[in-house]
Amino acid sequence: MARKYTHCDICLAACGMEVEVEDNKIVALRGDKDHPLTRGFLCTKGLASHEMVTDPLRLRHPYERTGHTWNRITWPEAYQKISQRLREIIRKHGKNSVALYYGGGNATSSVNYMLADGFLRALGSDRIYNVLTLEFTNRYLVMQKMYGKQFHVTQPDLDHTDCLLIFGSNPMVSLDHPGIVASLKGLKNRGAKLIVVDPRKTETAQLADIHVDILPGTDLFMLRALHTHIFRKGLEDKDFLDKHCVGTNGLQQLPEVSPEEAARICRVPAETITRVAEEFATARSASAVCKLGINVSTNCTLTYWLVEALNSVTGNVDKPGGLLFNPGILDMNLLSLVAAGFKRRKSHIGGFPYLTNSHPASELSRAILQDSPDRVRALIVDAGDPALLFPNSTRFEEAAERLDLLVSVDIYMNETAQKADFVLPATNFLEKDDLFIIFPDHFPYPFAQWKHKVVDPPDEVKPEWEIFRDLSRHMGVPVLNQWPMELMFRAGELLGKMLGTPDRYAFDPKNYYTLLLGAMGKVKFGKLMKNPHGVKAGDIQSGAALKRIATPSKKIEVAPTDFLEALNRVEPPGDFSDRSPLLLITGERSPHTKNTQLRGVKSLTKKQTSNALRMNTADAASLSITDGDNVEVTTESGRATVKALVTDDIRQGVVSLTHGWGRKLFHPETQSTPEEQGTCANLLTGDENLDELCGMPVFNAIPCSVRRQ
Ligand code: SF4
Repeated sequence: MARKYTHCDICLAACGMEVEVEDNKIVALRGDKDHPLTRGFLCTKGLASHEMVTDPLRLRHPYERTGHTWNRITWPEAYQKISQRLREIIRKHGKNSVALYYGGGNATSSVNYMLADGFLRALGSDRIYNVLTLEFTNRYLVMQKMYGKQFHVTQPDLDHTDCLLIFGSNPMVSLDHPGIVASLKGLKNRGAKLIVVDPRKTETAQLADIHVDILPGTDLFMLRALHTHIFRKGLEDKDFLDKHCVGTNGLQQLPEVSPEEAARICRVPAETITRVAEEFATARSASAVCKLGINVSTNCTLTYWLVEALNSVTGNVDKPGGLLFNPGILDMNLLSLVAAGFKRRKSHIGGFPYLTNSHPASELSRAILQDSPDRVRALIVDAGDPALLFPNSTRFEEAAERLDLLVSVDIYMNETAQKADFVLPATNFLEKDDLFIIFPDHFPYPFAQWKHKVVDPPDEVKPEWEIFRDLSRHMGVPVLNQWPMELMFRAGELLGKMLGTPDRYAFDPKNYYTLLLGAMGKVKFGKLMKNPHGVKAGDIQSGAALKRIATPSKKIEVAPTDFLEALNRVEPPGDFSDRSPLLLITGERSPHTKNTQLRGVKSLTKKQTSNALRMNTADAASLSITDGDNVEVTTESGRATVKALVTDDIRQGVVSLTHGWGRKLFHPETQSTPEEQGTCANLLTGDENLDELCGMPVFNAIPCSVRRQ
């Protein structure tokens, strides 16, 4: 029996795992007590993750679809057929007729995404779309504008702050920072203030000193009132603003939104808003943060900006207890430039900024459906399920029908794969090597742990990096779009063969990261191998990051001009209550699911078999709805039927339906009717209402009506 150390890949906490393996079978899986950040913690998802390895529903062979029939094909056939179709499409319609979408299915598997991205660029296409553009690119735009670089990302100093103000996040359930539960409990124990702004009394809100149960979609107005009150009372940190920021006047001279006015819009007491402003501004140190609940709401960029600016206004940036910058072990700004080049791009439909090396995924369906000679005709989907996760899932279904070629690389026959021409079986994280480099802000200091493969994949399953490497070679283009690297690895492969060790110098994650970390990493590959529980690569030095601000002024731009102009155009939400009396939110997290992943993991699906519409007791009573009733939800974009979950933990006037459901469990060889799990929340969302600055769609605060069936 072998004992191996790796980390979980389901979310960004990357919890350390200890795995016992015998005859290529996992016989025990537990939290790694020696992991410096997670100290033996694994949530229910991590503990159940080994079930993905033996899940009978998982894909084990490549398939080609003919009509409604799936035929098993060999890898050489799959590569040959896909390459031939891609060549034909490119020859007839040009390079940009091929697109890639990569999802969050392997949240921390960086090399997979790099190879998928490199493959498309090597084909000459820049039609690359990723899942971050559905939930995070507002943040990267704010970082770029305020601090000069998109990956110059801030994070709260959770273990030292005296006041943590959270908008739209439930970290007690999302758990996406290592040790977050202990950090929040520690914060409470040392007497620091926790303020949560959320329409639900979430598990995190239950711990809060102040819970603001705001009307969804109105956070921007509460933030404007916080800024107004802080400036009116002279609570801003003038020294910090003078020394380190530009644009303060722009922020100060915005038309005021009084706490009373915000209270009317946000439907919370004005005294609560003034109390939050004063608690935050007078704390010795404070951090204001926002996450998914804001990112998927109306005005997501402006709201994110005003949260971030609150930290600058009160002097809480780059100081203990405030916001810090974790540089990580690799320079992500440089890596992204190397991958995508220095050309300034805008998205080709809406002209949105090209963030995280991607066009906004909200444009993909239209890029396929548009009546234009350079529309997208071939789509490769890696570790993603746009058919369930895109807003207006009906539009994506229509778009998928118009494609000349759809290839899905996935563990499961997900809803997108069910429409594909070819489905290629990929590994789960326990079956591949990799390194998590993309979100250093989820660690309290620069940290890296090699994600060790613990078992070999079954049958014909391959890691994504290998699939994209092989596809690159079949298409005659270099891996990672870099000929020098391709030629070097090919020479290495020849040498390895001559020496009788064919894999020794071949392209694989270990050899690739040996080079990359050797060239620009804060920790070298050899050190990662010697330290299976992970390596701390330095501390975050507060005060150092302000010297690295990369804006033209070399100071924090607290009020970027285009943000100010856009803010001046924002009107308070209108009164829609005569037509759609409720507001729908879809970003709620659950302890047993992660978006569309983990669909076949029995121990989790037993705990939660479906999603339900969470609604307030008073709203339910007024509609004669009782807990467990079937209800029909209607929005401007569509309708869906779902069971009601009647509760007091959500504010009146708001209903919540978790996304990632509507999954159809299906295996190509059984040809059985897919078994459905839950209701797809994106039957109710639209893809027309995009954030005007970053192009992200709106999944929250959607007017809706509900009736008992
Ligand atoms: S918190 Fe995230 S990384 Fe940790 S075990 Fe759970 S799913 Fe895995």
